[in-house]
Amino acid sequence: MQVPSMLRDDLLTWGRSHRFRHHLRSLHFSDEAVAAMGLAESGRTMLARGLGRSYGDSALNADQILLDVNGLDRFIHFDAASGIVECEAGVTLAAILQLLETRDSDQRWFLPVTPGTKFVTVGGAIANDVHGKNHHRAGCFGNHVLSFQLLRSNGEILNCSPNSNPALFQATIGGLGLTGLILSARVALQAVAGLWLEAESFRYENLDRFHQISSASLTDWEYSVAWIDCLAAGANLGRGVFTRARHVAPAPGMDQLRFDSHGQPRLSLPFDLPSFAMNRTSIGIFNTMLWHKASARPRRQITHYDPVFYPLDAIGGWNRLYGASGFYQYQCVVPTSTARDAIRELLGLISQSGQASFLAVLKTFGTVVSPGMLSFPMPGVTLALDFPNRGFGTLALLDQLDRVTQSAGGRIYPAKDGRVSAAAFQQGYPGWRQFSTMIDPGFSSSFWRRVSAEAPLTRFRPL
Ligand SMILES: Cc1cc2nc3c(=O)[nH]c(=O)nc-3n(C[C@H](O)[C@H](O)[C@H](O)COP(=O)(O)OP(=O)(O)OC[C@H]3O[C@@H](n4cnc5c(N)ncnc54)[C@H](O)[C@@H]3O)c2cc1C
Repeated sequence: MQVPSMLRDDLLTWGRSHRFRHHLRSLHFSDEAVAAMGLAESGRTMLARGLGRSYGDSALNADQILLDVNGLDRFIHFDAASGIVECEAGVTLAAILQLLETRDSDQRWFLPVTPGTKFVTVGGAIANDVHGKNHHRAGCFGNHVLSFQLLRSNGEILNCSPNSNPALFQATIGGLGLTGLILSARVALQAVAGLWLEAESFRYENLDRFHQISSASLTDWEYSVAWIDCLAAGANLGRGVFTRARHVAPAPGMDQLRFDSHGQPRLSLPFDLPSFAMNRTSIGIFNTMLWHKASARPRRQITHYDPVFYPLDAIGGWNRLYGASGFYQYQCVVPTSTARDAIRELLGLISQSGQASFLAVLKTFGTVVSPGMLSFPMPGVTLALDFPNRGFGTLALLDQLDRVTQSAGGRIYPAKDGRVSAAAFQQGYPGWRQFSTMIDPGFSSSFWRRVSAEAPLTRFRPL
C-alpha cells in the first residue's frame, strides 16, 4: 500500500510551535475513509485532524499520516422536536449554530457545551471532550453525545454508545483521536429560552473575590468565567473581570437580529507580529487598561452569544500575535480541596516571571462526571494562559507550574499541551494505562508517543 502522495511540512496547530512533516490524506466521503484505513499497511500510523484548533501536538503525527476530516461535513438529520442532531464528524460547531439560528420554531436549541471557539469540528470536540463556560451545569461535550460511528484501522465500523461497545465509547470521548476515526455522531442539544444572552461583566480585586463571586454565580448563571490580569501581584494577585451569562427569551423583534459571523472573521492578522511586540511592558499596560475599563459593578446587558463565547473568533489568525516562534498554552485544573493555595502559587510564579500574555482565564469546574476515560475536567478550578515561546526560559517556567499542579493533585489539558513530561502526564491521568489498551494499533500521535513513554524522554525542543 502506498502512503498518500501529499507530503506536507507546513501543518501547524494553533500554538504554531511545532512544525513536523506529515503525509496528508483529505477525506470527503465515508467510503474514502474506509479505503484510507488500508494506509496502515504502509507501516505508518494514522491520526484524524479536524480544524487544528488544539494548541500543541495532540493533533499532529510527525512523519506519519494525518487524515483531514474537514470534508466529512454533512448533516444527516436534525429532529427539531427532540433537539438531536446527527452529522458527520467534520461538521463544525459554527455550522450547527448557523443551522439553529436559521430555524424558526417555538423551541430554541443551542449547543449543549461550547469551547471558546466555534471553529472546531464535532470529531475534535468529542476527541478532546471539550468543556465550556457552563461546565458547572452541563459537564463536557461527551456528556451530550448519544452515539457515534467509529472506523477502526481494520476497516470495521462500530456503532458506539453507552449500550453498544461501551468501553470504546468511553475511551473515544476524550480519547485524543487514538481509538480510530469518528465518522459521524448523534448529539443532544440543550433546550434554551432563546439564543440571546443576559450577561454581566464587572471587575474584581483579587483571588479571594474571584472564589466568592464564582461560587455565588454557579446556581443562577448558566455560564461563568473570569479574565485575569496575570501580571497583577501582591494584594491584587488574581484580579480580573468576571463574566456570567444565561439564555433569555427574545423580546419582540430580537430574534431577527443575527450576527453573520459563522464564516470568515471580520478582521484578520495576515502576518506574524515581531516577537518583541509581546513583552512585559506592553502586556502590563494592556492589562491595566482592560481592568480599569471594566465596570466596578455588575452591569447587565442583552447580547448575542458571539461576543460572550467567542471573542477571539472575531480576529482571524490572532495566533500570529506571538510571532514566528508561536506560543504555548498552559491549562491545568486543580481539585477544589487544594485550589485556593495552588492557584495562588501558580499565579504568583507567573506574575513574577512576567512571561504570560494578556490571554488568561480562570473558571470553576462543577461535579458532572464525563463518560470519557481520559477527560480533562475534574471538580475544581481551571487556569488557562498563553505564553509566547521564548525557548528554554518558557519551558522551564512551565515545568515549574507542572510541579505545583502535580503536588496539588491536578493535571494539564492535552488539547492545549505541547511539552508536558511523560511523568507529569501519567500522574495526572492514572487511567492512561487502561486507556492505552483501547488504542487502535493503526493510530498514534506525536503527543501520545511523548507522554506514554516509559522512561523520561529528552524534552522536545522547539525550533
Ligand atoms: C480560541 C480557542 C479557544 C478554545 N477554548 C476551549 C475551551 O474553552 N474549552 C476546551 O475544551 N477547548 C478549547 N479549545 C481547544 C479546542 O476546543 C479543542 O482543541 C478542539 O478539540 C479542537 O477541535 P478541532 O476540530 O480543531 O480538532 P483538532 O485540533 O484538529 O484535533 C483535536 C483532536 O481531535 C482528534 N480528531 C479530530 N477529528 C476526529 C475524528 N473525526 N475522529 C477521531 N478523532 C478526531 C484529533 O486526532 C486530535 O486528537 C480552544 C481552542 C481555541 C483555538
